[in-house]
Formats: sequence, structure tokens, C-alpha cells
Amino acid sequence: MTTIAAIATPAGRGGLGVIRISGSAAHSISQRLCKRDQAWVARHIHYSRFFDADNTILDEGLVLCFSKPCSYTGEDVVELQAHGSPLLLHALLQRTLVLGAKLADPGEFTRRAVKNGKMNLEQAEAVAACIDAATLRAARQAERHLQGEFGQQVNFLMDKITGLLAHVEACLDFPEEEIPSLLFAQLREQMTCEVLNPIQHSLATATFGERLFQGASAAIIGSPNVGKSSLLNRLSGHDRAIVSDVPGTTRDTLEVDFEVQGIPIRLVDTAGIRNSHDAIEKEGVRRARDAARQADVSIFVADASRKQTWEMQTQADIMVMNKCDLFTDDHDALPKEFIAVSAHNGTGIDTLLDRLAQYLEVVPIGEEGLLVTRERHQQLLIQAQTHIVQGGALLNGEAQLDLVALEWRQAWSALGEILGIGDIEHILDRIFAEFCIGK
Ligand code: GDP
Repeated sequence: MTTIAAIATPAGRGGLGVIRISGSAAHSISQRLCKRDQAWVARHIHYSRFFDADNTILDEGLVLCFSKPCSYTGEDVVELQAHGSPLLLHALLQRTLVLGAKLADPGEFTRRAVKNGKMNLEQAEAVAACIDAATLRAARQAERHLQGEFGQQVNFLMDKITGLLAHVEACLDFPEEEIPSLLFAQLREQMTCEVLNPIQHSLATATFGERLFQGASAAIIGSPNVGKSSLLNRLSGHDRAIVSDVPGTTRDTLEVDFEVQGIPIRLVDTAGIRNSHDAIEKEGVRRARDAARQADVSIFVADASRKQTWEMQTQADIMVMNKCDLFTDDHDALPKEFIAVSAHNGTGIDTLLDRLAQYLEVVPIGEEGLLVTRERHQQLLIQAQTHIVQGGALLNGEAQLDLVALEWRQAWSALGEILGIGDIEHILDRIFAEFCIGK
């Protein structure tokens, strides 16, 4: 194994910047970079200067040293904490490369951690999910996976399958007439209760799991000047969109990220939908219609002070009556299908957010349990489910026990693939390509 190095902190300037080195030469490379004769003391923090090839001081900082196998990667690891200057960090990294390290590929540190048994593949994916999480709720879910909770569940199911497989394989050695048929019914029942039902329970969480990490898109549509941009600013809590009382100000689509009960939402403010002769505005209107079609949820906005804007021009999932602060009549006079809000004073915004959460089937906070969060895991659980059912169907009077065993073994392998057990070389490149360098 070569020794790898990378800048582990994000691009750009910061208080600190970290260079991470992992591999058998990590200690010696860092010692030479620091011009230090003595060996580092593992799990100690050393203060040192960092030198360039011509002996000038590049920077000074802290050196954290770990000896294998007690490190993130399971190899010898050194982390140099320097100042967060991109130029300096690149010079330091360059120095480690000259001294014999290789620039790490994306996710290579974590890949080595998996290879060295520091974590399973599912936990490695959780590392990426933690880093990429767009909301705290998503990050907390990723953290549960990182702590190994999902892996334990999968391991538990695999153990159950192994136990039941042992029964089937024991029966293989006996002539059929000697096996009590009750045993088959029992095995099927146990497989259903202890493996199939938990898998189906897990699969039922996958839709929300995907939503938590992938988020949803919402398009705001409606006539010009009804207050779409104002509503976007109010919902996102930022003054992103230009608010103006000149109709047609929003000529293009504008996107803002916010969250509803921990679900990341990309809100798209669209140009007011009306017949326009202005070529740029026309293009904006076309994009607005596209955005509304592509979004997971469309929010139609009308203006309480202008009845002509109440007419629906497009099918929408949620209908909002904005500027209700200007509507002096009884609010009951407003069409019932509209949620009355005011982007100006905040009236009705909570109701709108609740309606949005309801439309997107957001599970209340604290009730989600452990979720299936990745398409890869979902597909493998479905595969396992199929093999278990197919095996169970063969477990009858004239049981073809060898086929039953084969099906159930395939179910075991599908679950194992979630954790990275078995022949998984073919999927590793794809998984780690999603990582950032230095992780
Ligand atoms: P858009 O063209 O639909 O994006 O509308 P804007 O957000 O640019 O708003 C058009 C005008 O309506 C601006 O002058 C806003 O200040 C005003 N406006 C927006 N929301 C409200 C509201 O809730 N109450 C009142 N009174 N005025 C609003």
C-alpha cells in the first residue's frame, strides 16, 4: 500500500487547514517535513515548524500522530494542522508528495478504513452522507448509520438466515419421508417473522429516507406581482429574490434552499405567468411552466387584493392567497381551497409550512426511527426479500431443499453486500467516487 496525502479541509481560506497522510511512510514523511529526528509519540499532539525543501519555514502548527491500527484508516496516520491558507496548504501537500506520498483519490482514506476493517461499507457511505447532509435531521440519521445501527440490524438478519439455512442443509442429508412436514411450515413461518417482516418494515422507510437526503423541490407560480418573491423570501428567511411592484420583475427562475421539518426544500421562484410580448419575459414564463411541471410540489399564489389573480391558470398542489393583510372583508369570503397568508406580516406561514410537510408526507420529527437512506441498500433489500420468498415457496411437500438453500444463501449475500461482505470490488469505485478528496 502506498502512502497517501491530501488536504482534508475545504478549499478556500480558513483559520486552520489540515493535511492528512496515511500509510507506512506517514510518520517518516512528516518527520522529514518537520526536520525532526525523533519518532513522533502516537496519540500525542506535537507543535512543530513545517519546512520547505530549501529549509525555509513554510508554516508552523500541530502534528497529530496515530499508529496503526488505532487510526481512522487503520494505517499509520499523521495530520498536520497548519494555517488555512490555500497557497500554504498546497505547498505543504506538494512537499509530502516530493517526500514520497501519493495524492489521495476521492474517498481513499475511508476506502482504506473499510479495507482494514475499521468500518463496514455501509458506515463508509454514512461518512459521505454525514458530510453531504443538507439538514441537521439528515445529519443525525446519517450519524446513526455511522454508529453502526443499520449494520447491526442487517447483521442480525444475516445471522437469522444462517440459522434457518442450517436447518435446511441438515435436512438435505435425510431422505424426504423422514422429515416431518411440520418442520417446513415452521421454517417458513420463522423466516417470515424474523427476516421477511423486518426487511419489509425497513423497505417501508425508504421513501422518506430518500426524501430526507435528496430533499424536494417546490415551485412558486402565479400571476405577476402577487407576491411570489416576497413569499420565497419569507419562507427561506433570506432576502434573496428581488421584490418590486413593477410586474414582470422576476424574469428568470430563482432557487433558494430552506427546510421544512428537517427536509431540504429547493424553492423555485418563477416568473409571473401571463401573456407577454417581451422576449426575455416570455422565456421566463416558459421556464416557470417547466419548473412547475418538474417540481415535487407546486404552490400557486394569488393576491387577495386582486380578484382576477385568483383564477387558476395551472394545476397546482397547494394554493396560497397572499396579501391577506390587505383583505379587509371577512376571511371566510376567500375561496376555501386557498391558505390565507401574508408574506409581509407572516400570517398563515406556519399553516403553509404544515401543509407543505403534509403534502410531502414528512414523518414527524422523532418518529422516523432508523431509515433506509440509499437506493443501493433498498435494491439489495428487495433482492433479499425476493430470494427469501422464492425459497419459502419451494419449501413444500416435495421440497427441493437444495434450491431452497440456494435462494436463501442468495438472500444472505444480498444483505452482506450492503455491508461490503463478499465480492464487492465492482461497486467500490462507484461508491467512493462520490466522496471528497481527503476523506
Ligand atoms: P411577484 O412578482 O409575484 O414575485 O411579487 P413580489 O414579491 O415582487 O411583490 C409584488 C408587490 O407586492 C411588492 O410591492 C410587495 O411588497 C407586495 N407584497 C408582497 N407580499 C405582500 C403581502 O403579503 N402584503 C402586502 N400588503 N404586500 C405584499
